[in-house]
Amino acid sequence: MTARSGLLSLALSPGAGEGTGSGGRRSARAYLPDLLLAGGEVHAGAALTVEDGRVVAVGAPGPGAQSVRLPGMALLPGLVSAHGHAFQRAIRGRTQRRVAGGSTFWSWREEMYRAALRIGPDDLYAIARLAFLELARGGVTASGEFHYLHHDPEGRPYADPDELARRVLAAARDTGLRVALLRTSYARAGLGRPVEAAQRRFVEPSPDDAVLAVDRLAAAHRDDALVSFGLAPHSVRACPAEWVTVLAREAERRELPLHVHVAEQRREVEECLAEHGVTPVALLARSGALGPRTTAVHAIHVDEADVAALGGAGVIVCACPTTERDLGDGVVPADRLLGAGARLALGADAYVEAHLLAEARALEGHLRLAREERAVLSGEGGGEDDLARRLYAFASAGGMASLGVGGGTLAPGEPADFLTVALDDPSLAGASRDDLASHVVFSMARTAVRDVFVAGEPVVREGRWARGDEAAVVAAAKAALTRLARGA
Ligand code: ZN
Repeated sequence: MTARSGLLSLALSPGAGEGTGSGGRRSARAYLPDLLLAGGEVHAGAALTVEDGRVVAVGAPGPGAQSVRLPGMALLPGLVSAHGHAFQRAIRGRTQRRVAGGSTFWSWREEMYRAALRIGPDDLYAIARLAFLELARGGVTASGEFHYLHHDPEGRPYADPDELARRVLAAARDTGLRVALLRTSYARAGLGRPVEAAQRRFVEPSPDDAVLAVDRLAAAHRDDALVSFGLAPHSVRACPAEWVTVLAREAERRELPLHVHVAEQRREVEECLAEHGVTPVALLARSGALGPRTTAVHAIHVDEADVAALGGAGVIVCACPTTERDLGDGVVPADRLLGAGARLALGADAYVEAHLLAEARALEGHLRLAREERAVLSGEGGGEDDLARRLYAFASAGGMASLGVGGGTLAPGEPADFLTVALDDPSLAGASRDDLASHVVFSMARTAVRDVFVAGEPVVREGRWARGDEAAVVAAAKAALTRLARGA
């Protein structure tokens, strides 16, 4: 038996590691990889001790902990997709052609709307499970779902008004992920424009609908510590300023994250200037919506005053570079945002890819192309790994902060959400303590991911989903995707 399968049999067998005299709680386990990225540093020969879903020690194994040796492996903090729309997995591979009048974000949005109109609750569950499975296989442990598909295809509330939100939450939890449902409010097509027929599944009469939905859903999931919530005005295009004010106030009162799409396309900025006389960021500031619990998604077309406002308020900017590239949105000026004091997170967004390290490398890569320079997001340090450790933190701790969970560095007290990667994978061969993060962030293939743990429990083992029949999840999603593609 290899050490690797030894880990898995220990981690998976019922009762393995049960302590005695600890009131039925699982006893501590000390994972001993060759290399461990924890607390922002790469350690060699250090143990990560985990108990009751949390990290309890880094370094020497915790007292009484059962040792689990992981030779040839590195152990890293779990990756986080802070922004995504799982249903958009339905149009992967189906929007990559030129259309009459030119292919733009707006023409893509028409195709996305058409798909959204056809998705039923069972489809949504099947497709979201596929999306979350793919995330998990790539080392993701937590996902923020920016959820705006609320009503039935005719635009009427379901008998259970939270039907689709519950399906997405079930898909994430059945997959094994930690999930934050960012319950989104959508009021209109834009200033003075009635709701388009294709938006009828998104639109609600009042911002109170989202607040009440979060209260209902939070009550229903109060026993699941891996489910959390946030409020989310879709954008200043889709929500009038009064809605933004209400949602910001309710999020503040409940200490919930507040997420909002900001300045993804130039047209949004122009429309906001025409309606309000200020940029979207300035409007959010005026509406009381910028603060340390706010995540501004995209923040691409921002001026110097916007950057200063986002940074000064300690906002988290969630960049989604593979989607932003796919849609022709532009480049998030992460260097300027970081310089102003903003924090960063990353998201799989439209699921054109479901690979958070691809997001991290694209964030830096796009800026290299734009600035004609290398190591753009590096801090002051000149070590080989400084830049990569920073990018990794955007994809882990940055996402956990954005979702209001905290953690993501594997420091003691934080959630035991982590992955292991095989150092003998061809994409990582030769990595050492001094350059592990550079290998992982810039060059690691997904084939290197071996095991993924959420709150100390296995979700992926030996590169395969550990909680059921992966083939059945894929087959169910394929049936839904095929039917939707036929327009049925
Ligand atoms: Zn989005």
